[in-house]
Amino acid sequence: MTDQRPELCLDFANTNAAGRKDDGADRLTCLADLAEWLESNGAIDAALVRALRRVERAKADRLLARAKRLRETVYQLMSDAAAEKAADAADIDALTKEAVAAAKALSIRRTKGAYKWVVTDQSPEAAIAPIALSAAALLTSPDLHRVRECGNDTCGWLFLDSSKNQSRKWCEMSSCGNKMKARRHYARVSSTKKRSS
Ligand SMILES: [Zn+2]
Repeated sequence: MTDQRPELCLDFANTNAAGRKDDGADRLTCLADLAEWLESNGAIDAALVRALRRVERAKADRLLARAKRLRETVYQLMSDAAAEKAADAADIDALTKEAVAAAKALSIRRTKGAYKWVVTDQSPEAAIAPIALSAAALLTSPDLHRVRECGNDTCGWLFLDSSKNQSRKWCEMSSCGNKMKARRHYARVSSTKKRSS
C-alpha cells in the first residue's frame, strides 16, 4: 500500500528540525525509526517494514543516509516553493533520480474501486519510493502554490494549505498559531502599557 496524500513528502521533510529555524532534533536516528515512520504514515506495508528491520548494519547506514538526502532535497524544493522561488537545478536532478528509481519499485493496482500506486518491490531500497513519488507529484502539481512554511519563526514546518481562501499561516493552530497570537497580543499589550505610562 502506498500513501496517496500529497502531504506525505512534506510530513517527511518535517521529521528533521536540526539546522532548521528552531535547530531541534532529527527524528530519524536509525533505520528502525525510518521503518516506523513509513509504517505509521501508511506508506509501506508490514512485509517491507520487516525487510527494513532485517537490513545489516553497513547497508542500514547507507539506506538511512540516502533517505536523509532525499529528505533534504524535498525540504529545499518545497521550502523554495513556499518562498515562491525557482528551485536549484541540482535539487530537481536529485529528485528526478529518486523518482525514476521509485517508479521501478511501484506498480498501479486497483484496490477498493480506486487505482493507486503501490510498492511491489520488496527490497529495502524500495521503502522510500512513496516519498519520492509524493514529492515528484506535488512538485509538478498545480497544488505546489499551496505549499507553505509555518509562520512561527521558530517552527519552519512545511504544510499544504487546503483552506478555501488559502490563508492558512500555521502548521497547526493549536501549537504555532496560538503561540504566535499570544506573542503578538503580548507585544500589543506591552506597547500600549508603555504609551500610557
Ligand atoms: Zn509551526
